[in-house]
Amino acid sequence: MKKLLLVAAILTLKNVLPAQTNQKDPMIVKMVNEVSKDSLESYVKKMVSFGTRNTLSSQSDPNRGIGAARNWVLSRFNEFAKQSAAGGRLTAIIDTTTLQKDGRRVDTTLLLGNVMATLKGTDPTDKRIFIISGHLDNMRSSVMDRTGDAPGANDDASGVAALMECARIMCKYPFPATIIFVAVSGEEQGLLGSTFMAEKAKKENWNIEAVLNNDIMGGNNQNETNKASNNQVRVFSEGLSVLDTGRIATTIRSLGLENDGKPRQLARYVKEIGERYVKDLKVVMIYRNDRFLRGGDHTPYVQRGFAAVRITEMNENYNRQHQDVRIENGVQFGDLPEFMDFEYLRKNTAMNLCNLANLAKSPSMPQEVRIETRKLTNFTNLTWKAPASGKVKGYYILMRETTSPVWEKKFFTTDTKMDLPFSKDNYFFAVQSVSEDDNEGIPVLPAPAGR
Ligand SMILES: [Zn+2]
Repeated sequence: MKKLLLVAAILTLKNVLPAQTNQKDPMIVKMVNEVSKDSLESYVKKMVSFGTRNTLSSQSDPNRGIGAARNWVLSRFNEFAKQSAAGGRLTAIIDTTTLQKDGRRVDTTLLLGNVMATLKGTDPTDKRIFIISGHLDNMRSSVMDRTGDAPGANDDASGVAALMECARIMCKYPFPATIIFVAVSGEEQGLLGSTFMAEKAKKENWNIEAVLNNDIMGGNNQNETNKASNNQVRVFSEGLSVLDTGRIATTIRSLGLENDGKPRQLARYVKEIGERYVKDLKVVMIYRNDRFLRGGDHTPYVQRGFAAVRITEMNENYNRQHQDVRIENGVQFGDLPEFMDFEYLRKNTAMNLCNLANLAKSPSMPQEVRIETRKLTNFTNLTWKAPASGKVKGYYILMRETTSPVWEKKFFTTDTKMDLPFSKDNYFFAVQSVSEDDNEGIPVLPAPAGR
């Protein structure tokens, strides 16, 4: 028996692959190469040309205000749909809701609209949805100022440009799962558009597996010291969900899973895939939901139990955010396109694209992933069942030391169980499905067997 185990251990170790040397999917490489700096720049400048995109601004003026801006985004989505080879799989709408005065940042009855393009998955049995989000609205120094100029180039035309560019490229390719590209409104007025969408998703039981919220991602220098970086981008994620209470919280504490909540797990994935496909870009994980004094559109999803993260540039410039355009003591204020770095925006867009593509091409999650914890051994025994949808080439078993922020080792198997010569006490493990083209799904942490 002992000898057998040793043989098994040696066999298993032969399959050990370092986590960062995965094969790239040529289709994703091709899409990443299609991301165009010029295209992103043209979208940002067009959005700035609407003068203001404040949520309370005009909805009837054909050239100025949020109404004109969202009609333009819709027309671009419809144009992409026409040019795509996807045969009507990309459809776009403005999803609206009527808001009443709220005594805070909405002082009138208001038709709020999210511009949403849906790239329907090619596999009807695959119910998964992946979302990329940015906010079309913006603000001046006063969030209630609906008439003065507010360029909002970086906050957040950058995020909207990124999702539009992803839609333009991705609608030409097939993905088993569905992808939604959404430019919301009402972010500055209190995350109103994303709350509307997240609430609807929860009520209608959308099977959302990831939300990538992009907000302020095309500037590269901070205001205080002018420190600059266009080769780092941040991904903010919450560790534990507000929903993790009672029995769930007890399990998290006993298994030491406080660093493995859904958004944190997604952030880890985003880092690995982003760095695999995009050259000269480090994805820096920040272990908190958002920055101080700021909010974002991922939060309404996180609060409803979905995996959502915020993607934001490394060095923010507060002279450019939420500021009337002006020069004061020789310092230029205002969110103008000339202060953006479109090559940096290209990289950050590509980082989103490769993640969305890898997720939407992957098989769905393995089911009933279990770890045997009822025996005192120095080994680890994992079992699972095939996913509900998607063709599986096999599975990766991921492993990391309990103090490591990222997965450190991978083992590949075509089986639905694996016995590993490493102690379950000393490492974290997860299982992920892998497609024929090497696209990995979201890792699933095992639950103790028999519980
Ligand atoms: Zn913003």
